[in-house]
Amino acid sequence: MKDENCIFCKIANGEIPSNTIYEDDLFRVILDNGPATRGHALILPKQHYADLYEIDEDTAAAAMKLARKMALIMRDKLNCDGLNVVQNNGSSAGQTVRHFHVHLIPRYENDGQHILWKPTSPSADELKAVRDELNR
Ligand code: 5GP
Ligand code: ZN
Repeated sequence: MKDENCIFCKIANGEIPSNTIYEDDLFRVILDNGPATRGHALILPKQHYADLYEIDEDTAAAAMKLARKMALIMRDKLNCDGLNVVQNNGSSAGQTVRHFHVHLIPRYENDGQHILWKPTSPSADELKAVRDELNR
């Protein structure tokens, strides 16, 4: 299914031009136009899924398989020192485009980016309460 109001549907299906670095039947991988670092890319499924809650299991698995393939290519060609694989769901998590996508963010020593979170310090009881809630 495609969503005619979705910009990533149009990009993924070639209706809007993009800097494509990989394409197959299921996905297009493009350069992000507001990159965190040099080579920041997005894996876009050609079908429309708003987020990880909507995407089917097989396509989600294929996206992660493709993330690995692209990671190896990026390490080889860009000589990056590391890579963040980021996938945002919902506005509270920073998702701005409601078409499932996986960010591939090559990292370079001292690139000045802050993609990691600020750790908190829950008590042992708080951690147990969350564990129990999720195991219920
Ligand atoms: P989100 O915040 O939803 O996880 O990520 C959306 C990403 O898409 C952002 O990094 C933004 O720079 C990128 N983006 C938004 N619109 C376009 C576009 O039209 N073309 C490209 N190449 N990237 C886009
Ligand atoms: Zn879409």
